[in-house]
Amino acid sequence: MVQNETSLRIAIQKGGRLSEKSLQLLENIGLEFDGYKNRILVPCKNHDVELLLIRDDDIPEYVQDGICELGFVGHNVTAESKADVSRLRALGFGRCRLSVAVPKNGGYHSLKDLDGCRIATSYPVLTRDHFEKQGVQVDTIEISGAVEIAPTLNVADAISDIVSTGGTLKTNGLMELETILESEAELIRTNLAIPEHKQDLIDKFLMRMGARQQAEKSRYIMMNAPSGAVQKICELIPSLKSPTVLPLAENDMVAIHSVIPTRRFWEVMEELKAAGASGIVILPIENMIV
Ligand code: ATP
Ligand code: ZN
Repeated sequence: MVQNETSLRIAIQKGGRLSEKSLQLLENIGLEFDGYKNRILVPCKNHDVELLLIRDDDIPEYVQDGICELGFVGHNVTAESKADVSRLRALGFGRCRLSVAVPKNGGYHSLKDLDGCRIATSYPVLTRDHFEKQGVQVDTIEISGAVEIAPTLNVADAISDIVSTGGTLKTNGLMELETILESEAELIRTNLAIPEHKQDLIDKFLMRMGARQQAEKSRYIMMNAPSGAVQKICELIPSLKSPTVLPLAENDMVAIHSVIPTRRFWEVMEELKAAGASGIVILPIENMIV
């Protein structure tokens, strides 16, 4: 059981790629902080919550041990740690992959070509697991940074490293051979028992995150149309329940309001125009509770 008398503690990365988006997400669901620069423990101004700002590598274990109830961290880091935690949500940012990369002209075409080779990595656990599963024998050499330079320095024959665009690999004369793990930032929770008041807060935050994620996937759409076109337009709009249809002062014209999935709105817009809609307005939605 985690401590009862402390605030709900949330670990986020200090000064790294995930820091700003993690903080932004917490602010988007209504948590207010100030003065988090140069601090490790930051109290929340409007909830019984405190942030712990630490290196991302420490987050899974801190959450496992109940020092923090929640943590925002890359799935790559959680997976490498093998910590006993649960994933509550994938967060849609910090997307990257752990990949095996080889010198471009090194004559390596498949994982099997790396049999007996030295692989430099900051992810020895995941890398070893992957090669073992493929039945390829390698030596992993653990390096904490600038892994991509290891083949040039002849410290290793190939690497296993985090890639997002692949630009760093290219610059270093490397090419991707195989993906070991796809990753994005995730919200993890301790598997230890949590006092009820803290669990209630977690449930509340998850509900708010869900509303926010739902809203980001949707747009509010408004348009005018001849009343004769309403049926056709309603068929085109996959709305929440049914679209709102309001009469306009102009004869035989109505305003139609609805919600559509963001990814579909261009397609829908063209079809709507063809069906007789005019003055189409698309608006972002801040929160959506369905
Ligand atoms: P720390 O000082 O906290 O240990 P770090 O150097 O290990 O920081 P960052 O480079 O800030 O970590 O990356 C944090 C996380 O961002 C990674 O673990 C990964 O989940 C994600 N990420 C997304 N794209 C990339 C990328 N191109 N390179 C590295 N990490 C990335
Ligand atoms: Zn790290």
